[in-house]
Amino acid sequence: MSTNGQTNGHDATSGPPATVGEWAPKTDFNYEVTDDGVHWEHNARVYEWDGDEGEVGPEHPELEAALFGPPEERGGHGINFAAIAEIKVEQVGVTKVDPVRSFDTAGLHPAMLKNVQLAGYRVPTPIQMWCIPAILQGHDLIAIAQTGSGKTAAYLIPILSRLMGKAKQLAAPRPTAQDFREGSARPVTAEPLVVIVCPARELAVQIFNEARKFCYRSMLRPCVVYGGGPLRDQIAQLQRGCDVLIASPGRLVDFMERPGVLSLRRVKYMVIDEADEMLDDGWRDGFTKIMSGGEQDEGDVKYMMFSATFPAAARQLAKEYLTDNHVRLQVGRIGSTHSNIKQDVIFVARELKQDAVFDMLTTMPPQRTIIFVNSKHAADQLDDFLFNKNLPCTSMHGDRTQREREDAMRSFRAGTTPILITTGVTARGIDVRNVMHVINYDLPSMEHGGIQEYIHRIGRTGRIGYEGRATSFYNERDEGIAPLLTMTLLETKQEVPDFLSGFVPEGGAQAPLVFDDDSDDEGNANGTSNDASASGWGTDAPQGGHQPISEAW
Ligand code: AMP
Repeated sequence: MSTNGQTNGHDATSGPPATVGEWAPKTDFNYEVTDDGVHWEHNARVYEWDGDEGEVGPEHPELEAALFGPPEERGGHGINFAAIAEIKVEQVGVTKVDPVRSFDTAGLHPAMLKNVQLAGYRVPTPIQMWCIPAILQGHDLIAIAQTGSGKTAAYLIPILSRLMGKAKQLAAPRPTAQDFREGSARPVTAEPLVVIVCPARELAVQIFNEARKFCYRSMLRPCVVYGGGPLRDQIAQLQRGCDVLIASPGRLVDFMERPGVLSLRRVKYMVIDEADEMLDDGWRDGFTKIMSGGEQDEGDVKYMMFSATFPAAARQLAKEYLTDNHVRLQVGRIGSTHSNIKQDVIFVARELKQDAVFDMLTTMPPQRTIIFVNSKHAADQLDDFLFNKNLPCTSMHGDRTQREREDAMRSFRAGTTPILITTGVTARGIDVRNVMHVINYDLPSMEHGGIQEYIHRIGRTGRIGYEGRATSFYNERDEGIAPLLTMTLLETKQEVPDFLSGFVPEGGAQAPLVFDDDSDDEGNANGTSNDASASGWGTDAPQGGHQPISEAW
């Protein structure tokens, strides 16, 4: 509960309606709207297959515009392809594939190729160059990759492309759109062909939005389910038929246990995205249930895992379910993908942080900004403070309802409130175009994510090939993270401020950067982050461990 008047709502009567700096006047936000259904992201429109003939349905210009957005804002717009091309991909497993350099020659289904063009994707990103052929050739896959690399499309494009030609034979029966219009539709059990499991609700919605684009004009019907959204609504969507299901693990298991709602018996592709965020001992049983939920014959289900690191639990799961000859990709190296983000660390005493952030916001040109804090209370407080100073802000944290989070995200995305104050966990996976500035009002502590969390956070800006800026407030309470922060600054060729100079390792930037990450891998992680393997395969609870993500489920 925010103290600024209403539940995360801003009191319209407080303060003069002035502008601050060049920021637009604050916009009031009403969470009292109750036209349920319309605003829930899981109810977003999808292509409704109505035909019996062929594999590709008719065009639907209005839906097309809604799915893909205005032409000038589609995929390739503003992207710095030189920066993308620099992201290195290494194949580290025994099975190798040849990369594809263009979508045209990748062997995609014509309807998929058309959707890729509509999305404005002109050139595959490096992870797509390898993932697309690997998946089209029918391999299982593990990829160490982060949000921002284009990984969602890297699995959606080939998986959906392969299914497009076969949807008629494979997909479960479902009511037609016509039946729905007439009200004669009978509900069915959802029997998806593709299941994508991911940790955070916001990320699930983002994947769903990508899936809605790539399923356009196909028989494949995407759905998303996640904790916090209304059960009845989500079940109603499933009962219309579901071929591609994006789900958070808790809600997925819940639905699997309800009779007649969801069966995994037809699953052909199982994708575990951001695996390191989900797999801990507490979720072992849940994942065993998910991974073997369909009880298909061995080899019938293709498994794909994407993760920023590969902790022991993820490796164990991979060992149990993936074929021995799966493709292993290492995409980029943790710091190197962030060289397009200008990072500043400035010393700010604790009691001056509010003033500092206000001064910073009002002296910079208005731009979409995410401010990270370390507690729900701090998020509420800062939201109040900035709002009362007439800055267009909103906030989000684990105590907000799902509805409130979606409203906050929508308002941030639309630019109505271009300043978003959030805790790190809640913001996991957020992909909003044109986030120009990330401010670490509080730096993550070593107990809650450490440098890994810092890297995740600053990665919200500078998304594929865009320039971004990250500013972090530092004071003596942040000494725990100082050594790794300094190394990250060196590694990403940033200036090290004087107050951190004591943490520069002997030999300066030339010295190999040794991360203390208690590796226990199957052989190739050596704890040296100059080596492409260091960030990944064997890193358990990297640099301070992960924050529990239970609040996101
Ligand atoms: P992801 O890493 O999956 O979160 O993707 C980050 C962003 O890049 C998303 O907004 C995608 O729509 C966009 N994107 C992915 N692949 C491409 C591509 N080949 N060309 C242009 N934009 C892309």
